[in-house]
Amino acid sequence: MPVGHDSATILSFEDARRVVEQQSACVRKNGTETVDLLSAVGRVLAEQIVADRDIPPFPRSTRDGYAVRSADLAMLPATLDVIGEIKAGEKPDRIPSAVNHGQAVSIMTGAPVPAGADAVAMVEYTAEHSAARAAPQNNLVESKLVENKLIKNKRVEVTRSVAPGENVVAQGAEGKKDSTLLVPGLRLNQAAIALAASVGKSRLEVFVRPRVAVLTTGDEIVDLAAEPGPTQIRNSNSFSLAAQIQEAGGEPVLLPIAPDEPGKLRQLIEQALQFDLLLLTGGVSMGRYDFVEQALAEIHAEFFFTGAKIQPGRPVVFGRVPAGDAGYKYFFGLPGNPVSTMVTFELFARPMLEALAGMSPRKLAFLHARLKSDVRVRTGLKRFLPAILSGEFENAEVELVAWQGSGDIAATARANCYIVVPPDREHIATGEWVALLAPGMRV
Ligand code: AMP
Ligand code: MG
Repeated sequence: MPVGHDSATILSFEDARRVVEQQSACVRKNGTETVDLLSAVGRVLAEQIVADRDIPPFPRSTRDGYAVRSADLAMLPATLDVIGEIKAGEKPDRIPSAVNHGQAVSIMTGAPVPAGADAVAMVEYTAEHSAARAAPQNNLVESKLVENKLIKNKRVEVTRSVAPGENVVAQGAEGKKDSTLLVPGLRLNQAAIALAASVGKSRLEVFVRPRVAVLTTGDEIVDLAAEPGPTQIRNSNSFSLAAQIQEAGGEPVLLPIAPDEPGKLRQLIEQALQFDLLLLTGGVSMGRYDFVEQALAEIHAEFFFTGAKIQPGRPVVFGRVPAGDAGYKYFFGLPGNPVSTMVTFELFARPMLEALAGMSPRKLAFLHARLKSDVRVRTGLKRFLPAILSGEFENAEVELVAWQGSGDIAATARANCYIVVPPDREHIATGEWVALLAPGMRV
């Protein structure tokens, strides 16, 4: 149950993640819109995609070779009469109506396997017997006659057997007519786009992207347009968050920088609540000028947690504000240190954003790689430390980047993943397998 602001709740990483997943499962999805197929890449599907005919629509040869009766190849080598040729897209009236015992049909990849044949022998394991005479190029009728004559005379020797069904995809094996191929909630990748194209969908219904308000806080933070004073810091968090929001399927809305002043902060938060989700950065630590939680509490926010046992990102806050008919508006207070902001977005805000975007929930899965050099940390927190995954093929290896802590954007920009260190591990030795958080990785 969510709590008021007075009782701070610090959860383990897993518990905090579970709370976000539970809340995400209850959110109301956005409306839908219809877009061109190519604009649908990366969008979330809002309709069912149904097979408009069997896939494949005919038994499809997956090889160049000879359509045969597999039983004819019990004794090798086998010599068969070649009774025709079928290319991909062959007109139906040119396809032999039956392949009988002792017969074969020359066939190309993607062509329909004729009735009677139950397998395709790959051309690599065959040799044609008759010497082929070239068909004249300029006289169609004569060309056909010659071709037919040649084909009639042709015999093929096959040197390798085939199992029934080998090199043939049966009609409808990949999808029966009217069956559901894709369901709403899928983020459309290239394969899904190809599948939609294959059933003739040139436009797709997708969910409208959720709009995510980004509210950066801090008296020291200045806009990119301004020249920072000696003790001021340029706002980078709004931009890392905007990039992450876009990548996760949302539309970022960058609000003005909020000062460390409860009244103004509250005003901006109220403004931000018109959007689908609110991400605040900074002002959630224990400092004297960290007013975010207070400002949220003043507008009756409920807090699910006000910290997680992680590093970076320990002061992360998750909660909701009652929002009339819309039910609740959710917010995350992300710690202001730039790497903390990035990591906590990835770990906690992303699943909520994906849910608002209409995506079906998915679990966070870590990859694994071998450690290239020792890791030594203090126990007690689950750590997500910027690292470089390198190596090649099956020999991926990973090592920490040298960094100055969770404010070090430069080190993080050199990294391509985070090593996940369990809270009870003080030392992980070179060569051990470690878990990795690879942002944006989909499973
Ligand atoms: P806070 O969480 O507000 O205590 O901030 C922690 C650290 O992150 C401080 O060093 C801030 O200056 C820095 N920081 C906070 N917000 C931003 C931002 N938008 N861009 C860059 N650095 C920030
Ligand atoms: Mg601050």
